[in-house]
Amino acid sequence: MQLSGKRAIVTGSNSGIGLGIAWELARAGAEVVLNSFTDSADDHALAARMAEETGVSVRYIQADMSKPDDCRALIAKAGGCDILVNNAGIQHVAKLEEFPTEKWDAIIAINLSSAFHTTAAALPGMYAQGWGRIVNISSAHGLTASPYKSAYVAAKHGIVGLTKTTALEAAGKGVTCNAICPGYVLTPIVENQIPDQMKTHGMDRETVIKEVMLSRQPSKEFATVEQMGGTAVFLCSDAAAQITGTTISVDGGWTAL
Ligand code: NAD
Repeated sequence: MQLSGKRAIVTGSNSGIGLGIAWELARAGAEVVLNSFTDSADDHALAARMAEETGVSVRYIQADMSKPDDCRALIAKAGGCDILVNNAGIQHVAKLEEFPTEKWDAIIAINLSSAFHTTAAALPGMYAQGWGRIVNISSAHGLTASPYKSAYVAAKHGIVGLTKTTALEAAGKGVTCNAICPGYVLTPIVENQIPDQMKTHGMDRETVIKEVMLSRQPSKEFATVEQMGGTAVFLCSDAAAQITGTTISVDGGWTAL
């Protein structure tokens, strides 16, 4: 299979987009390491189910992406990786002047700094073998902004900058680094924003989905986790060997507006 013999680590992958990407990488033949900050029976059962259904080796390794040492330990515990998907992320929605400092710090740590630490830990092994793929999950909010999401927009723009710098340093070494910029995908992180958005905008659930969330997504459809997974698999393919330092929007036309 396309990715047989490759080991992929996906941060924040017991849910949502990370889990969808992990499934598609496993279906393409990659050995997969799932991750989150929890260490529950469900987390390990998920790894066992993915292994059984795809026939590849799947492990779950606990590591808190808000902690630099955990980020680097994840790569070491996995035994290095050929494919690194930096996906872990959280969200908080509030006016800038009311934005809690601890939420700002947590979003910058998990959504941005974790990718710096995992990338720094993974690159030496990738350089040594002359092959590597780093896929950073940014957002349409890595290319454009929305009000009330200061920390998230700053972190996602930061990820695009980190992606470009990583690509330049890795160029010519068989290692590429790109960012996927999803529009709205209906996952827990989006589901959890709905009550805040309802409060901030004074709207009911359906109106928030249609007029706030999908207002900027011209397709008027949520993107899917399977589409994110397919895009990640493409970026790991030989066809994408010269695609590096760029962003791929999977956003129903949002950033074309
Ligand atoms: P989600 O809440 O379903 O998944 C987030 C994942 O990150 C979970 O597995 C969670 O356990 C993990 N995580 C959170 N804090 C962590 C920590 N401290 N350490 C390790 N793991 C941690 O959300 P999602 O929508 O799947 O989001 C995944 C990524 O995609 C995020 O970076 C998000 O910003 C990005 N994204 C999502 C959308 C969307 O519409 N859903 C759009 C653009 C970008």
